[in-house]
Amino acid sequence: MAYDDENIFAKILRGEIPNATVYEDEGILAFNDIQPKTPVHILVIPKRPYIDMDDFATNGSPEEVGHFFQKVGEIARNQGLHEGGYRVVTNNGPNAGQLVPHFHVHIMGGQKIKEGSMARGMEAS
Ligand code: 5GP
Repeated sequence: MAYDDENIFAKILRGEIPNATVYEDEGILAFNDIQPKTPVHILVIPKRPYIDMDDFATNGSPEEVGHFFQKVGEIARNQGLHEGGYRVVTNNGPNAGQLVPHFHVHIMGGQKIKEGSMARGMEAS
C-alpha cells in the first residue's frame, strides 16, 4: 500500500489544516486530538510519511525511531502525566481501527483509564 498524501495528518503537516501544537521539532509534530477521549489526549507523528507502526518500525532509521519515542516520553512528562501514569496507544491497520493512515501514537492521561480499554472506542471510567 502506498502512502496517501491526502490523509488528514499529511494536510496538517503541510499547514493546510490547523492544529493545536504541543511540541514540534525537525522530525516530529505533537498536537491535541480533535476529539479527546481523556483530559490529555495528544497525537505524536513523525514528519516523514510512514503509513503505520509496521512501516515506521521497518523503514525508519534507529535514530528516527529512537528520537520519536524519546520525545513521546518527554512530552508525557512535560504534561505531568508520569506521576499518575498514562497510556500510549497506536492503532496499526484495519483490524485495530486505524482511521488516519499516517503513523501516530496517542498519549492519553489526566484521569484513570478503564482497564483493558483501547484508544478506538475507549471510554474512561
Ligand atoms: P486512529 O484511529 O487512526 O488511531 O486515530 C485517529 C485520531 O485522529 C482520532 O483520535 C481522531 O480524533 C483524530 N483526528 C482525526 N482528524 C483530526 C484532525 O483533523 N485534527 C486532529 N487534531 N485530530 C484528528
